[in-house]
Amino acid sequence: MTRHTDPRRALVLFSGGQDSTACLAWALARYAHVETIGFDYGQRHLIELECRMDVRAALQAEFPLWGHRLGADHLIDLSVLGQISDTAMTDARAIELNAQGMPNTFVPGRNLLFFNFAAAIAYRRALSVLVGGMCETDFSGYPDCRDNTLRALQVAISLGLDAPMTLETPLMWLDKAQTWGLAEELGGDALIDLTVEYTHTCYLGDRSQRHEWGYGCGLCPACDLRRKGYDAWVRS
Ligand code: ZN
Repeated sequence: MTRHTDPRRALVLFSGGQDSTACLAWALARYAHVETIGFDYGQRHLIELECRMDVRAALQAEFPLWGHRLGADHLIDLSVLGQISDTAMTDARAIELNAQGMPNTFVPGRNLLFFNFAAAIAYRRALSVLVGGMCETDFSGYPDCRDNTLRALQVAISLGLDAPMTLETPLMWLDKAQTWGLAEELGGDALIDLTVEYTHTCYLGDRSQRHEWGYGCGLCPACDLRRKGYDAWVRS
């Protein structure tokens, strides 16, 4: 790939899922130095946090240039979120849709919190680009994932830190099929295979069943979305 390298240093919000893995690859293809940040807020599926390290290791092993650019990982304990949420992610309830059609895994405004913590780390680490996998197109309608929300947050963070901080959301206008397409464009079959094998999506934390599109229960909303996206995308 002959793309010009952006000399800035980036921090990717990285959960070990398909979307944030595409974002990490996107950042590694662009920026001279890329670090990752993850948040442990008492998810039922701590397996997601384990997948983070597997994905990082696989990217380093299979993409030497990206491996050279990939820097530190930061795992932040946000278990405090468990005290202010009442959802399937933090207790044993089944995943349901509320009256607004949102899964009850919703933690109000959590992406605002994530970006603020990421910005504080970025400031300390001399990183000036924050990358997140938020998406308006086919996600569950979370208002803190919307483009206007994040543009406003970029301004607030840059003013509040008195340092320019750019928020990049490469998936904002992509659907799930196009996210597979982006991965293919960035890293070809190797990145597709890596995504299938190592990334995690399932709300229930199931990695016992392997499908063409990856591991998961196959039934929860996250698996459903991932399967539909994979089916709609055709490997070229
Ligand atoms: Zn599932």
